[in-house]
Amino acid sequence: MQLGTPQSFSRVLSSMCTEPHPAAREAAERFLATNPGDPGTYETVADLERTVVERLGEIVGLSDPAGYLASGGTEANIQALRLARNRADSTEPNVVVPASAHFSFTKAADVLGLELRVAPLDGYTVSLPAVRELVDEDTVAVVGVAGSTEYGRVDPIPALADAVADASGDPLFHVDAAWGGFVLPFTEHAWSFADAAVDTLTIDPHKMGQAVVPAGGLIARDESLLADLAVDTPYLESTSQITLTGTRSGAGVASAAAALDALWPAGYREQYERSQANAEWLAAELRARGDRVVSPTLPLVAADIGRDAIDAVRAEGWRLSRTEQGEARFVLQPHVTRETLTAFLDELDRVR
Ligand SMILES: *Cc1c(COP(=O)(O)O)cnc(C)c1O
Repeated sequence: MQLGTPQSFSRVLSSMCTEPHPAAREAAERFLATNPGDPGTYETVADLERTVVERLGEIVGLSDPAGYLASGGTEANIQALRLARNRADSTEPNVVVPASAHFSFTKAADVLGLELRVAPLDGYTVSLPAVRELVDEDTVAVVGVAGSTEYGRVDPIPALADAVADASGDPLFHVDAAWGGFVLPFTEHAWSFADAAVDTLTIDPHKMGQAVVPAGGLIARDESLLADLAVDTPYLESTSQITLTGTRSGAGVASAAAALDALWPAGYREQYERSQANAEWLAAELRARGDRVVSPTLPLVAADIGRDAIDAVRAEGWRLSRTEQGEARFVLQPHVTRETLTAFLDELDRVR
């Protein structure tokens, strides 16, 4: 069998994942045959996972965090809503999410039997009056997005927390920072446990964190919140499990540990500054060409370069996705350098 060669990152412009940090790659290989889902047998990697959760706690403003490393943001979001549903006693539970929420919430609502109430946006972030209107006594969770997948925007997290506090039921407040979590600490945005009464939060080391896939993260304010996820595990040495998947990736855990060790905080700060500068530079270059650009507040640029141009650069091997509105979507991951962008703009000028 021919395995072929994985894609090179030199023309990948819209991925939320990136080239892993060398230390993360090395750690992943070393821990390939480990399973943190069975901590009795794979003790080292299980201990490492606790260390990673502690470190993620520092990033998200929580001194005594609970949580685990999931397969990605999708699993973390499903689990956050699952624990919210399990602790509520509603027979017709609903969850309120912004229209900008990632499609993983559609999957979560489907598998959990939750009614998905989608709050419209006011510009690029959620409309607070709409959220307040949609929340009722059967609302088990309200979701805020810190770094939206399409535009990199941050919902008003403290104001959403206030809306949750005022709710007639007792919903949990979940923040989805799957992509934004590794850049937001270096911005002025209010987004984390340190800024508002957040209950659970998703932050993915395998996106801006430069760990290998799969390494997602679910962080909870308190261990007791996770108790509602526990199921008995008769044939393991440990007696219960809170994760959704059983066997899990020790490689993901070890790589996240190595990436965090190498990069938090100085390395991630430098990367954020580089990526943000590139985002602003790209936005200015495209505006100078007459394109409408959605101003980047985080290192993600959406720009109306035209459908034909997107198709033409794709035909040249550029991996570029569209927003629902049809804008080209540039995610300024670590592998997207100024040289990459310069080469892209040359191509764009050639094709239009
Ligand atoms: C990527 C992303 C997810 C889903 O994460 P996966 O790791 O792809 O499962 C969820 N929410 C946001 C905001 C994301 O950017």
